[in-house]
Amino acid sequence: MQLKIYNSLTAEKEIFKPILEGNVGMYVCGPTVYSNVHLGNVRTFLSFDFIYRSLTHLGYKVRYVRNITDAGHLTDDGDVNNDRFVKQTRLEKLEPMEIVQKYTVDFHKVLDMFNLLPPNIEPTATGHIVEQIELTQKLIEKGFAYESNGSVYFDVLEYNARGLNYGELSKRNIEELFANTRDLDGQGEKKNPQDFALWKKASPAHIMRWNSPWGEGFPGWHLECTAMSTKYLGETFDIHGGGMDLKFPHHECEIAQGKACNGASPVNYWMHANMLTMNSQRMSKSTGNYILPMQLVSGDNDFFEKSFHPTIVRFCFLQAHYRSVLDISNDAMLASEKGFSRLMEALKILNSITPNDEKQSGFSLEDWKTKCYDALTDDFNSPVLIAHLFEAVKFIFALKDEKETISTKDLDDLKSTLNAFVFDVLGLQNIEENNNEKLDQTLQVLIELRNQARKSKNFDLSDQIRDKLLAEGIELKDGREGTTYSIS
Ligand code: AMP
Ligand code: ZN
Repeated sequence: MQLKIYNSLTAEKEIFKPILEGNVGMYVCGPTVYSNVHLGNVRTFLSFDFIYRSLTHLGYKVRYVRNITDAGHLTDDGDVNNDRFVKQTRLEKLEPMEIVQKYTVDFHKVLDMFNLLPPNIEPTATGHIVEQIELTQKLIEKGFAYESNGSVYFDVLEYNARGLNYGELSKRNIEELFANTRDLDGQGEKKNPQDFALWKKASPAHIMRWNSPWGEGFPGWHLECTAMSTKYLGETFDIHGGGMDLKFPHHECEIAQGKACNGASPVNYWMHANMLTMNSQRMSKSTGNYILPMQLVSGDNDFFEKSFHPTIVRFCFLQAHYRSVLDISNDAMLASEKGFSRLMEALKILNSITPNDEKQSGFSLEDWKTKCYDALTDDFNSPVLIAHLFEAVKFIFALKDEKETISTKDLDDLKSTLNAFVFDVLGLQNIEENNNEKLDQTLQVLIELRNQARKSKNFDLSDQIRDKLLAEGIELKDGREGTTYSIS
């Protein structure tokens, strides 16, 4: 089985060769925790969660690093008043680290809701200031960076003069870039408008600041990812991911920083996830065209006609390939809900199928498995994988109607393969099973409360609990082993 990955750097699907056989180092740019993540952000993180799960399922030992951007992340105009953290602290009248904590907690809650696995390391930009200062010093020593008025900039022209190629990822021509850029970020301080900040001098208004050899300031956004990926994955690692919109300038700058520092390209496979759109426009906070994950899940919004369980949202997202644009709509969600119920029903039916070792089945399990793995290893093609899962669903319904047969060995294999794809790889959750578990936990609490009431001779309350449950169709039975229940 050969895994093929589309590499944004070469714009080709390539056979994946990890640096260390059987191991994968993967870095994904995390959120800027100055406000709640919107559903578009979730799509990108979910795409990489699926990739992480797939790599693990394929047998790789993955070290997955996803950072938290919690230091100043300047907007394009470089004005400190537009720094996202500074703005939000003023708006919410909170300390910067309170903002960071509040939205980091929210981020984790949201990802947990969609059943994303946590990364192996989740480093923060503020926890790696020393590393960022060291990198900046190294770049100055090597002649790739210069100090100007307390800030330090990366010298893009010098980089190109040494035969390196700024623009190789985004396929931008540097001359064009120079012609089209206005010098807004660090007016007058830079040698060239394309030079980007490694370290910025903090103005008196800037609250998040650290000491450095160039005075008080804060690190540039691009540098944090180079510092953290190098620290935890090495100077060159296997996979770097992020949303499509981060290709330029963020990832372009990461390549330049890495090459200038270490002489080698930092990443072997660049992977970019495509955008979530709504009303055919990219989901984004700045344009107001967005929905928060909780609004979709609770139904508290004007866009969708009903609420949707997070696993349905997950299923909907995975029906598009991670490199394709996905437009979220009410119809798409309804269709996903229908498809998901059929899938869950098939899994349930599978548990009650009686195998038949006498008759030959018309369904080749081996061929089906090959097709599923071909889809997964073809640049993580989730929609094709899901289409194959539905071939199995069709077969399961035929088994139920006794129009098909399956051997004992194949039945076991089908069960374990399907369960692995649905729950481990796609990361879906069985809503019904989860609800049953919750119901059981709730009933155990009520039984315990009733026992306590009886012990304290509060028979009025204990009878009320029993009668009210009975009215809901839940009968409590007291026996020697304790109290059990049955649901009619
Ligand atoms: P940010 O917190 O702005 O750095 O964004 C976090 C991640 O979400 C980045 O990888 C972005 O590329 C990604 N992202 C932002 N908007 C969208 C969108 N509409 N669809 C998918 N991903 C997005
Ligand atoms: Zn990054």
